[in-house]
Amino acid sequence: MATLAEVLEERTAVAAPELVETIDRNRLRCYACGHECPIPDGAAGVCRVRFNRGGVLRVPYGYVGGVQCDPIEKKPFFHAHPGALAYSFGMLGCDLHCSYCQNWVTSQALRDPQAVAPPRDVSPEALADDAVRLRARLVVSTYNEPLITSEWAVAVFKAARARGLLTAFVSNGNGTPQVLDYLRPWIDFYKVDLKSFDDRHYRQLGGRLEPILDTVRRLHDTGIWLEIVTLLIPGFNDSVDEIDRLTRFVAGVSRDIPWHVTAFHKDYRMTDPENTTPEMLVRAAAVAQQNGIRYVYAGNVPGSVGSLENTYCHQCHAVLIERHGYHVRRYRLTAGGQCPECAASIPGRWATEFGGQITERPFLPR
Ligand code: SF4
Repeated sequence: MATLAEVLEERTAVAAPELVETIDRNRLRCYACGHECPIPDGAAGVCRVRFNRGGVLRVPYGYVGGVQCDPIEKKPFFHAHPGALAYSFGMLGCDLHCSYCQNWVTSQALRDPQAVAPPRDVSPEALADDAVRLRARLVVSTYNEPLITSEWAVAVFKAARARGLLTAFVSNGNGTPQVLDYLRPWIDFYKVDLKSFDDRHYRQLGGRLEPILDTVRRLHDTGIWLEIVTLLIPGFNDSVDEIDRLTRFVAGVSRDIPWHVTAFHKDYRMTDPENTTPEMLVRAAAVAQQNGIRYVYAGNVPGSVGSLENTYCHQCHAVLIERHGYHVRRYRLTAGGQCPECAASIPGRWATEFGGQITERPFLPR
């Protein structure tokens, strides 16, 4: 029987020329993520899904490891088409190896024999048609790290755009200037998972802090709508000092970038830390607000964090969107994305009208 690696090796295409460079006769450099791996002939990069075969970089193409329909609030995007249905697809593999990963079945499929998610062959057009059939407003590359499968994401996004859909990445943000330039024409929204503000912590997860900070700055400069999430893990990244430095950085890029601080639940291999309590989230949120971030949200504990699930006008503090978990209870923005009380423009990408929420919980396409 073929191994998963052998099965995936057959589901590849040639890398986008923007994302590869020849170093010398034997090696290529990949620019799809911040590792910028030099890859000798016959070898794969750190992600194990992009490999050099005879001087050609082959990359994942033509399959999905999973598809699910989510409320856009689950990604989470709170300032982009509230209530919309997000048709979410993922491939396999990741460039990091976080022991607390909540998508480990798809992200660690090539590293961990217990993480098995067989690929399903599909075309970009079939995925986009399915998204339309289910009344999705956007398609999202997620579950595994989408940067390492950027060519496939762009193919799906082109088909989605041709059908009038929006597009998004849910990503660890370990990018390069090359991959962000390559993606820019095809992406509307980008969520960066800013896991820590300590380079040593990032090295434990298999990465570095600086490429993630660069990605945040570049995404903001390009005008792609950006929201940032930090999973608060007791004893790992929850010190006041670290949250203070992290949220100062976000506010320094722009006070209008929404920051979501979400609760850790014991998962995968990280079972030592306690679960994050609502009080811990509220404390971290207060630090972010003191540092000037205008839109701060606390997630993963619906109904336990008071007003931190809602959106308030940064100018007059009127309630604009009321939520409970992923459920949008009330929506008050004007057609132009303004506060109905004081007419302040609210940063985000808003629909001209709120058409109701399609779903408040994930479901599998039928
Ligand atoms: S995507 Fe990242 S980890 Fe994978 S080969 Fe390219 S640079 Fe290396």
